[in-house]
Amino acid sequence: MSEEKIELLKKKLLSAIQARQSLEKSYEKQFSTLTGFIIKLTNTCKGMDIELDNKLASLRAQLNSNTNISKLGPLFNDLNQILNQQALKNAQQLQVAQGGLLNSAKTLQKFKGLPDEFRRNLRKLVTDIEEPHTSYAQLLPLLAQLVSFYQDFATLDKQQHAPQLSQSEQIDSLRKQVSAELINILSNIAFSGEHAEKIDQVRHTLSDNLSTEALVESCVEVIRLVISSITEERQSAQSFLFSLNDALSSVHQAVSTSINGSKTINESKQKLNEQLKNNLASMTDDVNQATSLEALKRQINLRIGEIASALNEKESLESEEHQLLINSLSEMESRLQELEVEAEEYKKKLSEQRFKSLQDMLTKLPNRASLDERMELEYRRWMRYSHDLCVVVADIDHFKSINDKFGHSVGDRVLQIVAATLQKGLRETDYIARYGGEEFVLIFPESKLKEIESKLNTLRETVSKIPFKFKNSDLQVTISMGATQFKAIDQPQSAFDRADQALYEAKSSGRNKVIIKR
Ligand code: GH3
Ligand code: MG
Ligand code: MG
Repeated sequence: MSEEKIELLKKKLLSAIQARQSLEKSYEKQFSTLTGFIIKLTNTCKGMDIELDNKLASLRAQLNSNTNISKLGPLFNDLNQILNQQALKNAQQLQVAQGGLLNSAKTLQKFKGLPDEFRRNLRKLVTDIEEPHTSYAQLLPLLAQLVSFYQDFATLDKQQHAPQLSQSEQIDSLRKQVSAELINILSNIAFSGEHAEKIDQVRHTLSDNLSTEALVESCVEVIRLVISSITEERQSAQSFLFSLNDALSSVHQAVSTSINGSKTINESKQKLNEQLKNNLASMTDDVNQATSLEALKRQINLRIGEIASALNEKESLESEEHQLLINSLSEMESRLQELEVEAEEYKKKLSEQRFKSLQDMLTKLPNRASLDERMELEYRRWMRYSHDLCVVVADIDHFKSINDKFGHSVGDRVLQIVAATLQKGLRETDYIARYGGEEFVLIFPESKLKEIESKLNTLRETVSKIPFKFKNSDLQVTISMGATQFKAIDQPQSAFDRADQALYEAKSSGRNKVIIKR
């Protein structure tokens, strides 16, 4: 081998040694980064499980002392097993934690009298908790929210129970609650005529911010009107019963007159029969005792005359009896006819009353009581036939400001027009009710969500285009809607809640919107 070649080989060898050294250095660096990382990782797992802690501590020690990785095989195997078990345990614990959160949130939901906004936000939290979660990290913000709900709830509770807070504020909120409740009750009772007008006045008064005295006065007025309505109703029922009694007693009288008449006529008839018998007997005597034909003829003529007049009398008695019977029958008939008319009227009144008790007085839409009935019916149909069934909650946007700007009567008018517009846009088989205030509930039997979505948007647009003009200024009224379809696990309340949640989302995302929740 030449000197040159040896020199070349030497150089190659040297550069190979250098390359290997730098590779080793880089490996060493990577290895130490990796072990550092693994050590950190093992530290974050501390506290989950004692056995895992022990094994990880031993891994850390080995890694720190630069042990040969190939010797760590059995330790890795053990760790693998523990980690697999741990993953299972984690999933179970996560489920338990999620259930616990859900329970606590639902317990809070059960409290009566929560403010609307609080109730809606809480419902949103419940839905969020119910979503599938894969780590505690996802549950933590929800837990924080739940805690703040409980904190808010505690202060709500305090406001209700601690008179030393601000008594005037408490009374004010109580007054508002009583007014709202009274308005709600009033729209669910049917009054008619004069009472209806007075109740309307009370309803208007109630929506102003009343003083305690005025509120008490309104309550008393309502009680008075209710009592007077009931009295009127009772009087009308009473007068019907009176005339029924009258009619029955005059029928009774007619029957007994006819019986009595028949009795006296019968007695007279018996007398006449007696007379006829006597006449015939006398005639036989006459025949036996007659001494001459002439005398017999005279006697017989006399008797025949008597018999003829008795027969006449009998005939007139019989026709009198007949007339008496006809009279009393026709009297009975006319009384019964009157009674029939009265009963018919009463029946009509009762069915009107029932209709009115299911109708909202202001908008003439079905009211809340009717909605409950209909919802139950549709729910049962849906259970039986499993046809599609959708429910929608609609609410007028910023309605309070319409009242504030233009007055309560304009607010009422807006409610009536919006109600009529919504109703006009529905099929015969669809249903709408006034749920309360400026909220409506719509039911669409045998409809899928995607079928009603465009219809709802058309309704929404139609409402927004109603040309309202008050006090010379144009007014645009819009509505927001939340819609959902009944699912296998649904009860009427859960479906309603989902639609209401969708409505809430329509409101918070800018109003004049339809949000669909599947
Ligand atoms: P949002 O867009 O969030 O629905 O706001 P809003 O102002 O429509 O809702 P809010 O619930 O704050 O106000 C509803 C108002 O409706 C309060 C109440 O005085 C009024 N209201 C309820 N019933 C009647 C009624 O029969 N006639 C009138 N004129 N107003 C009513
Ligand atoms: Mg509203
Ligand atoms: Mg509302």
